[in-house]
Amino acid sequence: MDLGIKGKRALVCASSKGLGLGCARALAEAGVDLVMNARGAEALEAAAQAIRDDYGVEVTAVAADITTEEGRASVLEAAGDIDILVNNAGGPPPGMWTDWDRDDFIKALDANMLTPIALIKALVPAMMERGWGRVVNITSQSVKAPIPVLGLSNSARAGLTGYVAGTSRQVAPSGVTINNLLPGIHATDRAVGLDGGVAKQKGISIEEAQAERAATIPARRYGTPEEFGAACAFLCSMHAGFIVGQNWLLDGGGVNATL
Ligand code: NAP
Repeated sequence: MDLGIKGKRALVCASSKGLGLGCARALAEAGVDLVMNARGAEALEAAAQAIRDDYGVEVTAVAADITTEEGRASVLEAAGDIDILVNNAGGPPPGMWTDWDRDDFIKALDANMLTPIALIKALVPAMMERGWGRVVNITSQSVKAPIPVLGLSNSARAGLTGYVAGTSRQVAPSGVTINNLLPGIHATDRAVGLDGGVAKQKGISIEEAQAERAATIPARRYGTPEEFGAACAFLCSMHAGFIVGQNWLLDGGGVNATL
């Protein structure tokens, strides 16, 4: 399918690895020029160069912490006009509800709620003026079904989801859509990190921890960054203009719910 977005320009945050990289690669395959971001310059430049080599699109790489005001300023300065914004950042650490204090919540809210909102506020007005734009926020299945040890994530992402529900309806008349992608378990460094924690806690190998987790997913496997990226690219496509304020769960059936 021709996604109809060749020549558009996308900012994909937190995209040197994992789900962000999956989105960047799928957009590049559709002919979209990219601004990519991550904190670590080396992995970011390697990912950017691989995309230039594979798809021949223009890629600007900006090493910065997207959850800080200075980081966002440097990314936005390099970005220029952006048609497609993919919001992403690392997820908060797991823990117990009794452990988290105000500072932990502020950090989680900054990373997973206020950063995407700041980037939407910075970039969507120009999209509205041009009459076309796409925003996709990478959130989590924890918005639909809480993961108790990820209470910081559950809280911050629920806040962003509420914001998107209203704001997406306000910007839709100008041809700009905002939607959320909710990853279930995907095979990325983040998943390996969480599995490592479980393995240590239970005294089992990481492979055993992964097999246990995969067995809880009806698809009996982890998702891949490639299939996640393909869903993102479709949401950013010309064909997705009537999809507004939605929360797409990509979880292999992991969340046991009718709707
Ligand atoms: P990942 O494999 O660990 O990759 C994270 C990417 O984000 C890396 O490129 C990392 O590069 C970059 N990054 C992290 N913090 C950043 C920051 N402050 N500023 C700029 N870049 C940053 O993670 P992932 O699995 O793709 O997860 C992406 C998001 O989806 C996370 O919020 C995660 O919680 C959520 N999620 C993932 C899963 C899953 O199963 N994988 C499930 C549900 C939700 P640097 O470290 O160099 O900055």
